[in-house]
Amino acid sequence: MGAYYDEVEIEDMVWDDIRKLYHYPCPCGDRFEITRQQLRDYEDIATCPSCSLIIRVIYDPLDFEDEEDAQEKEQEEEDTDSSSSGDENLADILEKVSI
Ligand SMILES: [Zn+2]
Repeated sequence: MGAYYDEVEIEDMVWDDIRKLYHYPCPCGDRFEITRQQLRDYEDIATCPSCSLIIRVIYDPLDFEDEEDAQEKEQEEEDTDSSSSGDENLADILEKVSI
């Protein structure tokens, strides 16, 4: 395309754990920003809020996709565990009753 000011690998950007975004110094004195959510949505353009420059972020979308899936799976497993343990208790009770 050639429309980008630069292409930057995600490893070279700085993670802001408070604002949940990656940033990279912009020549105007501000900084390019791209959020984790944008990366999950396969967006790779980091923008600077103070000027019109943009950069392309080089990253692997699967890294962020997997992380989101893992969190969802953990929650599902917790729900499954609580319900299955309840079934086991019920099974134990039924066994004792039948004996
Ligand atoms: Zn700028």
